[in-house]
Amino acid sequence: MARDRVLRAMSDDGSFRVIAAQTTETVRGASTAQRASGAIACAFGELLTGAVLVRESMAPDLRVQVILQGDDPRARMVADAHPGGTTRGLVQIPVADAAGGMRIGERGLLQIARTLHNGSIHQGVVSVPEAGTISSAFMSYMQSSEQIVTMIAVGCQMDGDDVLAAGGYLVQLLPELEEELLMVMTERLRDFESMAPLFARNAASPEELLAETLYGMPHTVVGTSELAFGCTCSPARLAASLATLSKADIKAMLEEGRMLDIECDFCRTRYEYSPEQLRGLLQPN
Ligand SMILES: [Zn+2]
Repeated sequence: MARDRVLRAMSDDGSFRVIAAQTTETVRGASTAQRASGAIACAFGELLTGAVLVRESMAPDLRVQVILQGDDPRARMVADAHPGGTTRGLVQIPVADAAGGMRIGERGLLQIARTLHNGSIHQGVVSVPEAGTISSAFMSYMQSSEQIVTMIAVGCQMDGDDVLAAGGYLVQLLPELEEELLMVMTERLRDFESMAPLFARNAASPEELLAETLYGMPHTVVGTSELAFGCTCSPARLAASLATLSKADIKAMLEEGRMLDIECDFCRTRYEYSPEQLRGLLQPN
């Protein structure tokens, strides 16, 4: 199977920009780490794909974090897309709701934060539109926050609990676009509002998504890059979370002389800290 990747293209008349992504392996990796399956894995895959598309539509050094909050405020999913193409995520769903999937159609919220290298954060929140889909929530965000007419479709093809394919596209229309062209494109994309028919006929690769969305329009691929599931955790980063342990707790562990074991919530990598390393944390900075 081809590796996950993203293609960026422009129509030669400069009217449209298209970003198309295949995220199958990314979604599989993140879902496995989060032990998400079925409808939850599918929604998670859509959220991860949307985060990738939004990130790819912005400056290359931006990190994009997306939080989807369900009708039940305790139900949350997080997608975290990094410069360089790695993406990770979190699924936090109350056990009682897990079987029915994550409902977002009534009080659902989509929150998107862009973090710049200088540390500043730009944040926006939208409520999930009536359509109640993750694609519609991302479109609503782009409309209100970025003020660019944007069409987004994200999707996941499942076979029971297995992710068969995941991906999506984003089409942006330049502001000065003629009304007539805009209508043509809107009409054209009506057939691809859902990724399902594209998955069904095995036509959801980035190349095919470009060919479908820009059908009959001369266009040029302006960039391509690889995507993957990946985490940014490290022994030092996880150790920072030890700062939340009380000194009494750390002392108790030291007295027992045992290793401390911490697991990264995103990727499930386990890190072990020796008593000596713990002792270091007890030193005042
Ligand atoms: Zn990690």
